[in-house]
Amino acid sequence: MFNGVFKKMQTEFTSPINYFLDMGDDFIYLNDAINKEISILFRGYSCLSCNSDSKIKGNGLCNKCFFELPQAGFWNTRPELSKAHLGVEDRDLEFEKKMQLSPHVLYLSLTSDLKVGITRASQIPTRWIDQGASQAIIVAHFDNRYNAGITEVGLKKYYKSTTSAIKMLQSQNFDIDLIAQKKECIKNMNKELIKNIEDNDEIYKLKFPIKNVLSNPKKIDLTKENQFRGKLTGIKGQYLIFNDQYYINIRNNQGYLIDLEII
Ligand SMILES: [Zn+2]
Repeated sequence: MFNGVFKKMQTEFTSPINYFLDMGDDFIYLNDAINKEISILFRGYSCLSCNSDSKIKGNGLCNKCFFELPQAGFWNTRPELSKAHLGVEDRDLEFEKKMQLSPHVLYLSLTSDLKVGITRASQIPTRWIDQGASQAIIVAHFDNRYNAGITEVGLKKYYKSTTSAIKMLQSQNFDIDLIAQKKECIKNMNKELIKNIEDNDEIYKLKFPIKNVLSNPKKIDLTKENQFRGKLTGIKGQYLIFNDQYYINIRNNQGYLIDLEII
């Protein structure tokens, strides 16, 4: 039995991708738990920053931390709100400079659809693993998060920028030529904001430890059911997939205090 707080699964870009769950005193290699019964008991909340037991607002943080900590600033999910390049503070300018004024990339990936996204260059390929992308290609590089974010906003009329979890869990193969899409995407970009276009047209292929895609995925809500038990059949993105089409998004359950048993 493991006791701990759910945090985003750690990954290793191998084929298939390796998944690890940090449960405090224990570090679990989850690929080894596939085909085993897992029991998850929800015991309450524990904020990943202050350990408060009040309800989690988002990112594993309580309401107070969610609205105060620099790493939870809204420029995270809306990069176009970044202001560090202007020297303007959101919550902590030094922290924001470090995160926002670092190299960023714009990519195309195949998740639930062809999507456009941006991320810090250091988050490649983790970002693609977390979103459950089967393929991805780097389109362009940027000096900062704002330029990348504004470019992404401009591309939203051509591409989706979010992933539908259910569709991602149902998808396997896409008949989409990412190199051709990259060429098309470059035509649609505001060139002034770009540092450089990526010369390398390498298509990154991600193989997840999952045998079958789901046809009718069913979400596990620990706050309603309190306890879940099922056979782990695979892992994709930040999702654990169980028999009978059940799935749980570990990322959305961060900060949940859990008893976990692999039987
Ligand atoms: Zn907190």
